Amino acid sequence: MLRRRTLKPPLRSIRPAPDAHAAIHLQDAVHVTKTEAAVARPATPRFPVSSESKAFYRRFFPTTTALDWNDWRWQMRSRIRTPEELARIFQLSDDERAAVGQHKGSLPVGITPYYASLMGLDNPSEPLRRTHIMTGDEYVRMPGEDNDPLGEDHDTVAPGLVHRYPDRVLFLTTGTCSTYCRYCTRARVVGNPGGEYQFSTRQWEQALAYLEVHTEVRDVLLSGGDPLTLGDDKLDWLLSRLRAIKHIEFIRFGTKVPVVLPQRITKALTQTLKKYHPVWMSLHITHPAELTPEATEAFTRLADAGIPLGSQTVLLKGVNDSAEVILPLMRGLLMRRVKPYYLYQCDPISGSGHFRTTVEKGLEILTALRGHTTGYATPVFAVDAPGGGGKIQLAPDCIVGRDGDDLLLRNFEGKVYRYPDPGGQLGMGKPVAMAAE
Ligand code: SF4
Repeated sequence: MLRRRTLKPPLRSIRPAPDAHAAIHLQDAVHVTKTEAAVARPATPRFPVSSESKAFYRRFFPTTTALDWNDWRWQMRSRIRTPEELARIFQLSDDERAAVGQHKGSLPVGITPYYASLMGLDNPSEPLRRTHIMTGDEYVRMPGEDNDPLGEDHDTVAPGLVHRYPDRVLFLTTGTCSTYCRYCTRARVVGNPGGEYQFSTRQWEQALAYLEVHTEVRDVLLSGGDPLTLGDDKLDWLLSRLRAIKHIEFIRFGTKVPVVLPQRITKALTQTLKKYHPVWMSLHITHPAELTPEATEAFTRLADAGIPLGSQTVLLKGVNDSAEVILPLMRGLLMRRVKPYYLYQCDPISGSGHFRTTVEKGLEILTALRGHTTGYATPVFAVDAPGGGGKIQLAPDCIVGRDGDDLLLRNFEGKVYRYPDPGGQLGMGKPVAMAAE
């Protein structure tokens, strides 16, 4: 039985980031001293290192050992964050160099060495690199764009707690991510220690107090930032507090860590998560290039811990906006026990115009998937309605029209079939363009 009085926030392990302001916030909590990292390091880290990653770290981090490379805290400490570090590893275009030099505030550049090892070092068009190294387009604000396109601030009921849907909440636990995606919906929130958005145990307590009295909340989505950048002790504390609230049935994580920092999925972490089942996880995945041996190991560990895995993919122009990319990605996920869950239209965050595709493109990709691969590999396509309208699912229109009692439906091959539907209204008034077989 959990006793609230004994569950003290593990403040001693919360340390300011070396590059941050002096205030102690959870978004800084992943940074530890070298001595602590050595103590915390597992004796036998059995994590695969692909030949590409090995070649990368031998070239750019020559004093690094496999032990360091597989230590998620080393990966966090060694993130590529400054123009100089970027230029040491990537052949930057003039556009990239100028854009990085101009950046201020939240959503900084931050790339784990592991994730950088998957990127095109001398090709600015390489998909993963495009999603993480800014260009001048990021400073262009298009009509309809907003810093908070989903109106999350409006629905915030306690610090970091967004209550929009009747029975579920979004709990922003930290402002830290291991890598920063240039199209992030929460660009205003993440990577800015000392900025407007703060995430500390004091803020957590206010969110928990809200949840304790709101008995209609059954489902809590832990997000951020990335909640898996928090240490095991803090996650353990937060999960135990949430599990002590009887009406909370379902706990979910939203995370990109398993593909950008797979070394974080340690045995100790999965042991911690297992204590609080049912725990589910939505994995933010962009491109088949992310499905490496390392990510596969991370998925395996999570799935073996009994955590159902679903994917979320944002459709991005020139990165993954074709069936040739999405189909192998969805199939690859399914093979790794991750159910393709959502394909999202990119949110109209300020400076995202160069990433956003048309809605038709998403429907076109979905049409290409349907019938050509198992339904398990077909995600739901959705637009998150700007202004706080929530997710709206979109699907190709398969209703051709109506002929008396018959509803006329188009299949995945474009052929039209009749379904006997006496008394139905669907399809009435639609011009019947194709004869039903
Ligand atoms: S991992 Fe998620 S929260 Fe972090 S920058 Fe990327 S999209 Fe934003």
